[in-house]
Amino acid sequence: MTSSSSPDLLIVGAGMAGLTLAAALADQPVSIVVIDPHLPAGPEQWPATFDPRVSALTQASENMLRRLGAWDAMAAQRVAPFAHMDVWDGDGTGNIQFHASEAGAEHLGHIVENRITTHALYQRVAAASNVEIRCLGLEKILDNEQGGWRVVLSDGSEVEPTLLIGADGARSRVRDQLGFRCRTWAYGQSAIVTTVKTDKPHGDTARQVFLESGPLAFLPLREHSRQSQSTLCSIVWSLNDDQLKPVMALSDEAFCERLGNVFEHRLGKVLATDQRFAFPLVQNHAVDYIQSGVALIGDAAHTIHPLAGQGINLGLLDAAVLAEEIQRALEHELPLDDFSILRRYQRRRKPHNLLLMSTMEAFKRLFGVDIPPLRVARNLGMSFFNRHTLIKGQIMARAMGMEGDLPALAQPGLVADF
Ligand SMILES: Cc1cc2nc3c(=O)[nH]c(=O)nc-3n(C[C@H](O)[C@H](O)[C@H](O)COP(=O)(O)OP(=O)(O)OC[C@H]3O[C@@H](n4cnc5c(N)ncnc54)[C@H](O)[C@@H]3O)c2cc1C
Repeated sequence: MTSSSSPDLLIVGAGMAGLTLAAALADQPVSIVVIDPHLPAGPEQWPATFDPRVSALTQASENMLRRLGAWDAMAAQRVAPFAHMDVWDGDGTGNIQFHASEAGAEHLGHIVENRITTHALYQRVAAASNVEIRCLGLEKILDNEQGGWRVVLSDGSEVEPTLLIGADGARSRVRDQLGFRCRTWAYGQSAIVTTVKTDKPHGDTARQVFLESGPLAFLPLREHSRQSQSTLCSIVWSLNDDQLKPVMALSDEAFCERLGNVFEHRLGKVLATDQRFAFPLVQNHAVDYIQSGVALIGDAAHTIHPLAGQGINLGLLDAAVLAEEIQRALEHELPLDDFSILRRYQRRRKPHNLLLMSTMEAFKRLFGVDIPPLRVARNLGMSFFNRHTLIKGQIMARAMGMEGDLPALAQPGLVADF
């Protein structure tokens, strides 16, 4: 494709959401420009350590990434399937376990480093005949005086797309510059993420303990996709802001000891840790995902507490649904800025995202209180759910992303290798 200053689509942001949208429309009769000042680096530039940012990818996300031709490249690097989940209340006796076999599946999901997913998608998009990727940022968005947008890039060049896509993450400039209203609340918390080595193997189990300050997750990792008996985990530890500094300041040895204690030594001692990173936790939801000629996807539209492990899974679904609506418009020869396309996208995605966000918020609040009757009730509730296979089945279907209005890309029907 030739460099165009008026492509059909300008996607701002080459993260997992933006690249999924471009990959879903690869080699279709639609011209696409993707911009990002930080394009995904390849394995040759990766440090030998694990990426501290990992995601628990659902079955629905795996289906999409397989159909988009990214999964094989990801599995050739490393993906870690998990077949079990163990969740418990750190303040009581409540616990619930999920097993893939109860859902007739081999696994419940995969833990994958974000850089592996992004790079595999990037390779797919870079090979597409209709996509141009530019290593540039968005500077400003102007009205082009014909009812469309004129987007100024960081090198001063301008693009006038038919449709502008904000896939530029939690601090989206597209969203902020165009005045999309948001409902935002900071939790007064941050999450510490790092990779740790434990005494005992994780047994392909994702574990999460609910502490008064927030959840602590141990997510199973593997050195390479086919390895088992690994003792490496990625941890996501939510802490109140006043607790964060002292924990970040601990020596590695003291940090491992504290982490092992809080985690009740479920995997024996924590033997070693990589460098720690802290991410502030904010829940944010755009009131609308669309305006004339613009749509937001992924974290630009919504950020969710990581206790759900759902952030990017929702973003990938946004991208797949929007791609489906764009394809529908192409089939019906509708112009891409036809507002009905965007309205259908918003109608299909917003209620689903909102439901998940409010469920997670309720969880967060329920486990954040230390009122004895509530503590007893939540412990009884967890143990009750644990005994009821029907309810558990519904929770698992949701955790695997296999419910609701799924786009064709996410539907079941492919044979899984891992
Ligand atoms: C601690 C933590 C743990 C998490 N765990 C999970 C999990 O287990 N499962 C899960 O599903 N999700 C998880 N998430 C959420 C997940 O990481 C995000 O939902 C996901 O990364 C969002 O992807 P995105 O493509 O929407 O945005 P991003 O990954 O933020 O990508 C945005 C892209 O836009 C680019 N960009 C920014 N500004 C501009 C600009 N002005 N011009 C051009 N480009 C720009 C950036 O360079 C970036 O490449 C977690 C998040 C945190 C903080």
